[in-house]
Amino acid sequence: MEELDWSNLSFGYMKTDYNVRCYYRNGKWGKLELSSEETINIHMAATCLHYGQEAFEGLKAFRGKDGKVRIFRPEANSQRLQSTCNGILMPELPTEIFIEAVKTAVKANERFIPPYESGASLYIRPLLIGTGAQVGVRPANEYLFIIFVTPVGPYFKGGFATTPYIITRKYDRAAPLGTGIYKVGGNYAASLRASQEAHAAGYSAEFYLDAKEKKYIDECGAANFFGIKNNTYVTPLSTSILPSITNKSLMQLAEDLGLKVERRPIAEEELSTFEEAGACGTAAVISPILRIDDPDNNHSYVISKDGKPGPVCTKLYNKLRAIQYGDEPDLHNWVTIVD
Ligand SMILES: *Cc1c(COP(=O)(O)O)cnc(C)c1O
Repeated sequence: MEELDWSNLSFGYMKTDYNVRCYYRNGKWGKLELSSEETINIHMAATCLHYGQEAFEGLKAFRGKDGKVRIFRPEANSQRLQSTCNGILMPELPTEIFIEAVKTAVKANERFIPPYESGASLYIRPLLIGTGAQVGVRPANEYLFIIFVTPVGPYFKGGFATTPYIITRKYDRAAPLGTGIYKVGGNYAASLRASQEAHAAGYSAEFYLDAKEKKYIDECGAANFFGIKNNTYVTPLSTSILPSITNKSLMQLAEDLGLKVERRPIAEEELSTFEEAGACGTAAVISPILRIDDPDNNHSYVISKDGKPGPVCTKLYNKLRAIQYGDEPDLHNWVTIVD
């Protein structure tokens, strides 16, 4: 294979050698299958196409200085997928199958795992879809689970940096008792327009307020929000936020660093009190926030006074990345080594 330009990869799809598939039929999951086919053949009445029976996950594998390949917290992704399955009436995929499928997909595409020095990684995308034909609104009786992988570049090409965000009042991503807590495609469809408008206006992403009162901070784009003040890590508690595994990990690391951790509703006005803030998720780990504009109120919350990422965000970012790449000990047993 021609050597890939590892440090200039974007976050896009690149064909790799194999994907892994597992079918659910007659009430049970079948054997894992390795496929080199990029397309799938499904019934036109499949429930994923009509009624949104679709769940996905996102995680990464990293090559360390020692040459070993580490997958970050796959058990947590498996549990979250099970929770999503429960939420939209799809059969839960057992964790053993999920982990086996992730390892198989990573190993089979070993030559696409970027070298340590590049700062790039292998993105792993599991998805589960209802494939059974159904016209009436009810869950399918057949499902397909797939994992494909694709190498992705370092998120911060010009180095870890702050960017601006915008509060949207025009759109909600998810309802308070809706599917916001599940990783389903429907939530993304609901956010595409808001996201496109935010990008067109020069922002990294849109900030959602809680859909009921429009008072509290919910999510920022497809990432969780956290703020830092008075040696405390504060992140919203809400019934419409997707439980980010990155956020969960950062809460633990913050505690390890001696910070207090609070999960509670964050009113919009409280944004003016944070010394630092960030958006977090698998893609970037942390995107430090420069400022959050609220054009409808003609207000701008300036988070980073000097325009740079703050010391706590920087420490947390470096710490989590060091664990992922194996540069620091994995004290919380987050990493699965592929051998
Ligand atoms: C996937 C996702 C996140 C981030 O979750 P991680 O597990 O940290 O990658 C946050 N918000 C939404 C809406 C998501 O879909």
